[in-house]
Amino acid sequence: MSAPGMAIIGAGEAGVRAAFALREQGYGGPVRLYSEEESLPYERPPLSKTDGAARPIMPGEAYAGQGIELRLGTKVEGIDLDGRALETSAGSERYDRLLIATGAEARRLAGCPEALYLRRDSDAARILPRLEPGLRLAVIGAGLIGLELAATARAKGAEVTVIETAPRILGRAVLPELAQLLAERHAAEGVRLVTGQGAVPVPGGLRLEDGGMVAADMIVAGIGAAPRTDLAEAAGLEVADGILVDAGHRSSAEHVFAAGDCCAIRQDGRSLRLESWRMARDQGERAAAAMLGAAAMAAPLPYFWSDQYDLCLQVAGLPDPAAPSVARTLPGGRLLFQTAPDGRLASVSGLGTGTALSKDIKLAERLILRGARPAPEALADPAQSLKRL
Ligand SMILES: Cc1cc2nc3c(=O)[nH]c(=O)nc-3n(C[C@H](O)[C@H](O)[C@H](O)COP(=O)(O)OP(=O)(O)OC[C@H]3O[C@@H](n4cnc5c(N)ncnc54)[C@H](O)[C@@H]3O)c2cc1C
Repeated sequence: MSAPGMAIIGAGEAGVRAAFALREQGYGGPVRLYSEEESLPYERPPLSKTDGAARPIMPGEAYAGQGIELRLGTKVEGIDLDGRALETSAGSERYDRLLIATGAEARRLAGCPEALYLRRDSDAARILPRLEPGLRLAVIGAGLIGLELAATARAKGAEVTVIETAPRILGRAVLPELAQLLAERHAAEGVRLVTGQGAVPVPGGLRLEDGGMVAADMIVAGIGAAPRTDLAEAAGLEVADGILVDAGHRSSAEHVFAAGDCCAIRQDGRSLRLESWRMARDQGERAAAAMLGAAAMAAPLPYFWSDQYDLCLQVAGLPDPAAPSVARTLPGGRLLFQTAPDGRLASVSGLGTGTALSKDIKLAERLILRGARPAPEALADPAQSLKRL
């Protein structure tokens, strides 16, 4: 058995960031990073946006350079909380502090064994090279990943149908006005969007609830991701929709932390699980600080982005699709602000060309974090700089 130290299960965005942050924050002991995957840890966002080629999170040599033991192809199979030890496919190993960063997995579509999913580099390798003129792709689920894949597939000339059971696309976290703009853009690009009905697989494709047929050579389901909590549950940690943690990423067990897509943060009497690249990084960094004994921290502002065609959707805060918003139209796109009942700015959502809105989103994020109460007229007026607000 090797010396205990910091053990991290999962080498995704959260786990890798935590490992390097431990070193940046001065930790000199052993850091072990377990990955059941064989590939050098890679970014997931490019998998649905480009040619699907994996982009490493850190260069391979950086791990050894920082004294981080990267155990590729090593699955952690059990956690012994009392003995502070991990059961791995390579044997048993002790730890002082443990970070669970096991991420999430694509939800499976019942009754459709032919459906493919997009979560890993190996999934992308199965899907992306086949996207070409003549291929008929059916995407089930109009969430972010499904729509990004639809845009990528259109760019490669495939025929694309997106089928969504909800009445509109992106119902969960995107305000209806921006979802509508995106739907219009997909339609203009030639994507057939079918909303408000499900589909069942039949030979040659899918049959819609209204009896219509969607001929498909490939079916990809993008119906959300489920947190990977099995290890935590088996060890007896508190789990709801994710491993429950406080703002310092401490789980219900001493010495055990969780970060990234697998965790749900208790906040204001509820728990919040965020699936986003920036959140996974932030959380890995915060968890590392907490593992080294840092005091409780305020939770970061939720944020995600999505690229579809030349458009970039960015959302900071937690927009409420049922609540009103104030719009600001800029040359590069449109921003929507929502305020809390006490007038504080609560969220900003933007849809614009490329990075045209990035500066304004950043400024709005600062306003939100400062608890600013800008007047709705000022928010709506593009002549009033957000910086001055
Ligand atoms: C196709 C795609 C596109 C995306 N695009 C965007 C985007 O545009 N914008 C955005 O904000 N977010 C995007 N995301 C979300 C973002 O990538 C995730 O939120 C982020 O990767 C989560 O990081 P994580 O470290 O929590 O989990 P993951 O990246 O899922 O990593 C967890 C790792 O743990 C490993 N693991 C699990 N269990 C074990 C075990 N028992 N033993 C060893 N290893 C284990 C898994 O195999 C995996 O490698 C996208 C995600 C996908 C899949």
